Amino acid sequence: MLNPDVRRTYALAAICVGVFLSLAVAAFLLWENRRERWASAVQSAHNVLITLTSDINRNLNIVDLSLQGAQDAFLKADLTTLDPATRNMVLFDRALNARYLGVMLILSPSGDVLYDLGHPIPRPGNFSDRDYFLVQKDANHAPYLSRPYNARFRDFEPSVALSRRISGPDGSFRGVVMGGIGLEFFRDLFANVDVGPRGIVSLVRDDGVIVMRWPSSDGHGDTNLDIASSEGMRRVMTGDGQPFTMDGAVDGVRRHYFYDRVGQYPLRLVVAFAVDDVLAPWRRQALAFGAISGASSLLIILLVIALQRALRKERLVSARLENLATTDWLTGLANRRSFDENLIMAGRRAARSGASLSLLMIDADRFKLLNDTFGHAKGDEVLHQIGAVIAAAARRADDVAARYGGEEFAVILPATGAAGAARVAEGIRADIERQVGRPNMPVSVSIGVATGHLLTGQDAEGLLAAADKAVYEAKANGRNRVAVRNLTETPDHRRPPDAGTHAAADYTSEDPRTAQAV
Ligand code: GH3
Ligand code: MG
Ligand code: MG
Repeated sequence: MLNPDVRRTYALAAICVGVFLSLAVAAFLLWENRRERWASAVQSAHNVLITLTSDINRNLNIVDLSLQGAQDAFLKADLTTLDPATRNMVLFDRALNARYLGVMLILSPSGDVLYDLGHPIPRPGNFSDRDYFLVQKDANHAPYLSRPYNARFRDFEPSVALSRRISGPDGSFRGVVMGGIGLEFFRDLFANVDVGPRGIVSLVRDDGVIVMRWPSSDGHGDTNLDIASSEGMRRVMTGDGQPFTMDGAVDGVRRHYFYDRVGQYPLRLVVAFAVDDVLAPWRRQALAFGAISGASSLLIILLVIALQRALRKERLVSARLENLATTDWLTGLANRRSFDENLIMAGRRAARSGASLSLLMIDADRFKLLNDTFGHAKGDEVLHQIGAVIAAAARRADDVAARYGGEEFAVILPATGAAGAARVAEGIRADIERQVGRPNMPVSVSIGVATGHLLTGQDAEGLLAAADKAVYEAKANGRNRVAVRNLTETPDHRRPPDAGTHAAADYTSEDPRTAQAV
């Protein structure tokens, strides 16, 4: 059986382990939740990237197919014989599929408008200054995607153009066919995807010029902003397609970036979500959850500790009460009740083991006189001192020193023979006379010793009576002396005498007043 302290410690440890385990499980679940949130944000950003690049690529391809159609028709058909409306139909028949095509023109080698989609009589204009014209003039860039510009034919709407060179059979420059796409196409596309409150979608040319960014710092798509030298652009251009996390150069917001090339065009699409958009709600949740579970764990542990303290205190109080019930308040020795119980137990033990049991009855001499002479308080003090001498004499663990009542004391000496008991008694007597007594206040005790071999526990009462008689004897013989009644030497006794620890076979009292009575 474990003692209560050890049991309680185990219980506390078990509760701590339980609390720790439940915290660990909660932490694991929270971590899983974070992982899932992140994975789903990554997945949806990736989906946005794929959807947008393929959408943009498809639309640019449709425009390019229209350009190729116009290119072919321009070179092969004999346009001069056709009326303007039919001519436009021949040149631009494929252009009808391109929904976002704002303008489609065929320009002469000098940049003048030759043919104009939707206008059989072409609007007059010259675009020899545009990059989509200039690059094709020098060499064949098939197809070329222009820098964003404000379209003169479309109320200066921001646009980009795809252009193709028209070359004669000998490679000579015959002009340029171009298709202009309003940037609202990209804006509408980007505005409709969800990349979180602080996410970004951006279409950038390979030279670092922004075509359209959503949301933008200027509110119009940051069109034509040059970010070629930015860290983000460098990573997009040199990256192997792996997403990366970076703090925004302008707003300082940390984002996770995904990027891809748009088909064969010199364009990159970048999609990014803000790390905090994904993790901040989780962090708040984790913090709240952590605080609650931490606090409740702490509370449980504190409650357990408080409970433990209360139990320990209760144990101390009950031990103290038990002590009060068995202790004499004046001398600190066992009280009468405790003596009676101890005598019964000692008697049973002696009967079982066959060892002799000795009992001392100690009665203070002429104590009434002492009280009358020095006062009751002094009498109490003397009783206390007598108690201390007796307690010191009862040295062995099994010895019991008790206040029997009034000015009478008793000592139980288990496994002690008559000679040994007489010696203990003589020690007590002499010490009290020397240590407690004063020249003007002699203090002495008369001690009756009884030693016997008990056959049953009840025989202890007989031993008590014998000790009492021995006290009378000591009193009668003049007080301040020891009288011994050795019951082990009665003729009808069947057990051989034994020797206790205190026993000495040839006991002789140093004091001539010590009498041995049988
Ligand atoms: P004897 O030598 O024959 O034993 O004489 P005695 O006066 O000791 O015997 P007696 O039985 O006549 O008186 C016992 C006295 O012990 C009576 C009482 O005043 C005193 N006494 C008993 N209990 C206490 C106590 O608790 N405190 C004090 N101060 N005195 C006590
Ligand atoms: Mg008495
Ligand atoms: Mg007395």
